[in-house]
Amino acid sequence: MHTSKSHAKTVLLVLATSNMHKIREFRAMLKAIPNLDVLSLLDFPHYQLPEETGTTFEENAILKAVDAAAALKHWVLADDSGLVVPALNGAPGVYSARYAGNNASDADNRKKLLSDMQHLLDDDRQAYYECWIVLASPEGVKKSVRGTCEGKILTAERGRGGFGYDSLFVKHEYSKTFSELEESVKNRISHRRKAFDKMVASLEALAADATCTT
Ligand code: IMP
Repeated sequence: MHTSKSHAKTVLLVLATSNMHKIREFRAMLKAIPNLDVLSLLDFPHYQLPEETGTTFEENAILKAVDAAAALKHWVLADDSGLVVPALNGAPGVYSARYAGNNASDADNRKKLLSDMQHLLDDDRQAYYECWIVLASPEGVKKSVRGTCEGKILTAERGRGGFGYDSLFVKHEYSKTFSELEESVKNRISHRRKAFDKMVASLEALAADATCTT
């Protein structure tokens, strides 16, 4: 709430993604931070993210954040994330979005994962989501954080919500897949939330810097 003497400016923050699911999840989490004007790459159709040539989630998140911030001349929040299955030597890992090929759909990727895991039982079906979030200004990286969410991969899909591998993933101590859970519940317990919580102070500081009192 602003008094008549104060005037809150906003900072423009661009989410370096055009994935509607990620945008929705981030928008819900960013609601808690005042004075941020949140856009996404859907608002900059002329801009294309660089190829994800990194070998880690962190490298790819930095690549996206730095390139987008320099090109768009705005503050940028980039996310690189994926599913890691230790029994598959870490696959799909950084290739999560293109596990079944460069133009693969989420359904193609889930089908390949089920096929690659068909011989794996119980403990070998352990998996975790990993998310790196990077905040960058046009001058470069300001903050980089990691979050994980541990669970297991089912032998068949369940549920219609979410995206990616959500209909196959059940978090430890839960019985529903991420697709079956309400989005608001996924948003409280996910790898993205865990990383985001470590980024909140930096985002609050960014927003506070832009607030001036007249
Ligand atoms: P990125 O856009 O390059 O970070 O690739 C992310 C990929 O990882 C997605 O295409 C999904 O396959 C997977 N992924 C990341 N986060 C999630 C999630 O929250 N749910 C389901 N799949 C996810």
